[in-house]
Amino acid sequence: MKNILLCCDLDRTVLPNGHQPESPGARELFADLVHGGDILLAYVSGRDKTLLLEAIDKYNIPVPDYAIGDVGTTMYRIEDGHWSEMDSWAKHIAEDWHNIAPSEIHSYLADFNALRLQEDSKQGKHKLSYYVPVDIDTAALLGTIKSRLDEHAIHANLIWSIDEIKNVGLLDILPARANKLHAIEFLISQTGSSKSHTVFAGDSGNDLPVIVSDVPSVLVKNASADVQDEAWHTIEKNGNKNFIYIAQGDFHGLNGNYSAGIIEGLIHYHPQLEKLLSQVKPD
Ligand SMILES: [Mg+2]
Repeated sequence: MKNILLCCDLDRTVLPNGHQPESPGARELFADLVHGGDILLAYVSGRDKTLLLEAIDKYNIPVPDYAIGDVGTTMYRIEDGHWSEMDSWAKHIAEDWHNIAPSEIHSYLADFNALRLQEDSKQGKHKLSYYVPVDIDTAALLGTIKSRLDEHAIHANLIWSIDEIKNVGLLDILPARANKLHAIEFLISQTGSSKSHTVFAGDSGNDLPVIVSDVPSVLVKNASADVQDEAWHTIEKNGNKNFIYIAQGDFHGLNGNYSAGIIEGLIHYHPQLEKLLSQVKPD
């Protein structure tokens, strides 16, 4: 069994696709650490399998051992380049919906005129996705949908976001258990690992439930000030302050953004890896 389970968000955490600059060579160093450091690697992302593969190829990042995709609704084991979906996770989250198909859940919401189904490619076995006008009273809408689903004993996780380019609201209805934190806890048990041997890295609001939990976590330096403030605010209340590290930069010549922040945080929790860093990085 590998010693460390490293779970990473992709966009703007491993992938340098934000506004801040990436340290030159940081991704190569990240790959070297993963390969040399007895690390089991998992990506945790909103992306589906196609977009996960596209990111791995485009940014030349390590192929992971596991991938949690589609906002936590799919989980894959990757062996020798072959991706197989983990039925155990699919079965686990299906219980929240009592094996009821998304099409039937859609029929429960037929009278909600504000909801427009997204394209078939955006739907999943455990994911029902809608477009919603941005100017709607979101809190009221989500509250009413939640009550309607409760009437049918559907335990759902409603994820609201905005596509700012298309100026449209996006609503994902998922099984309640299909969230990043629970998916990581499930992966820890499936791999026979433990929280103390796990590190999570993320950058944004949808990573916060893991960041503020008792899973040792890293916020990369490019995380917005709002996300950092919210993380500290929650941690002051729940007392999980030993399980968060915010990358500072100026570490082995790295700036703390994206994969540089992951490296810095990983070594914060597992200092024995630092010697590996100096071995792989010629100064
Ligand atoms: Mg992200």
